Amino acid sequence: MHFEKLHSDMNEQFQKRELFEDAKKYAYDYLEKVKGMAVFPARESLCLLEKFSEAMPASPCSPHDILKILHEVGSINTVAQTGSRYFGFVNGGVTPVALAVKWLADVWDQNTALYVISPIAAKLEEVCEKWIVELFNLPEHTAAGFVSGSSTATICGLAAARNEILRKRGWDVAEKGMFGAPPIRVVVGQQAHSSVWKALSMLGFGRGNAEVVPVDEQGRMRTEALPPLDSNTLLLVQAGNVNGGAFDPIDEICGIANEAGAWVHVDGAFGLWAAACEHTRYLTKGMEKADSWSADAHKTLNAPYDCGIVLCKNTTALRNAMQASGSYIQYSENRDGMLYTPEMSRRARSVELWATLKYFGKSGIDALVNHLCGMAKYFAAGLAKNGFIIENEVVFNQIMVRCERSGETEALLQKIQSSGTCWCGGATWKNKPILRISVCSWRTTPDDIDECIKVFADLGRDTGK
Ligand SMILES: *Cc1c(COP(=O)(O)O)cnc(C)c1O
Repeated sequence: MHFEKLHSDMNEQFQKRELFEDAKKYAYDYLEKVKGMAVFPARESLCLLEKFSEAMPASPCSPHDILKILHEVGSINTVAQTGSRYFGFVNGGVTPVALAVKWLADVWDQNTALYVISPIAAKLEEVCEKWIVELFNLPEHTAAGFVSGSSTATICGLAAARNEILRKRGWDVAEKGMFGAPPIRVVVGQQAHSSVWKALSMLGFGRGNAEVVPVDEQGRMRTEALPPLDSNTLLLVQAGNVNGGAFDPIDEICGIANEAGAWVHVDGAFGLWAAACEHTRYLTKGMEKADSWSADAHKTLNAPYDCGIVLCKNTTALRNAMQASGSYIQYSENRDGMLYTPEMSRRARSVELWATLKYFGKSGIDALVNHLCGMAKYFAAGLAKNGFIIENEVVFNQIMVRCERSGETEALLQKIQSSGTCWCGGATWKNKPILRISVCSWRTTPDDIDECIKVFADLGRDTGK
């Protein structure tokens, strides 16, 4: 095949814009449907996914057909997490303005590695960094890196910590590696998120070498059970347990860690946003005494995927850990995003993040966090009234709920997941199965929750509760 034909076709596609009109039509159709559609695809829809199982095409395909199959077979097999009754994992919804600017920025197709590759993306990263540091009340000059999510953000924070702790002991880990390095102590709560264990395994700490701190009945680290800390210690605390939303006693722990000179990293994927809300700020009290933090904008803030943030008090430590060199890399006087992230090429997620922060403003974020927490409390109260057992203090947006008998809980989970009305996940808590509910979308209203409580009650009755 001659490339000339493809080239002229693609030029024509840009010129005629029909493809974009199709995409727009399909997108509007989805927006109209999403609130009413099955929250998880029905079995019959899932079977249609087989239509995608074809051999690698031998020749080009019509772009209209590509969009059409996504619209017809793809959209019905999405999970309706931008609707109002999705409570799985901790998945945020999306705001109209962020979606709109993402469309626009997709047309720009910027690479945010360096200022010289995208001045606008670099500028918006700079602005987002400043705003977020202020919003979370972190020390001035705290650096931010914009990554895909909290898993990556935690890897970055821990890499900075590791390199800095070892640098102080005269060991350049970037150069010499971890083999033969003086050992670093890692102290972590028993309820740390799986991404923390993953980061520890990826960075050469070894999961098995961590000193694990026991937790209380809510899953919070017990301060009195902390081992003695020293300046050779990396301590991980959690702002928001992925199941019940509990916050470690950050203030107390940071106080002890500061005195000992230990490095503290806060995993605050969804919970760090508590700091931006007057009513929940008490939960993150003292977090400014930590050294690094990870957060997701695609959870509580309802920015589109993928939008994670690593924050590090010691800018040099983060930059040194992420440093890359090459004669072709042109650093500038301005912000060069790749100095703060593991990736070089990255999409311009700073555009959506900036738009979301600008749209809400401080008072809007305060109201959003309040809304999510209020809806969670309302949900939990309604479930309790219907005889379900709520396992946690609902301090943020997470609920752990179960039936009296484990078998009933498991049966209920299955039924909820195939109900189409709402969706939540399961987990194990204190050796018992639970349903975990995360209220994480701005769209969820009391009416939605009333409807879900009714589904819980009806299906619970069916399972013999
Ligand atoms: C979601 C979550 C993570 C992982 O974040 P990703 O954005 O999915 O990588 C880490 N920690 C906690 C507490 C979380 O809730």
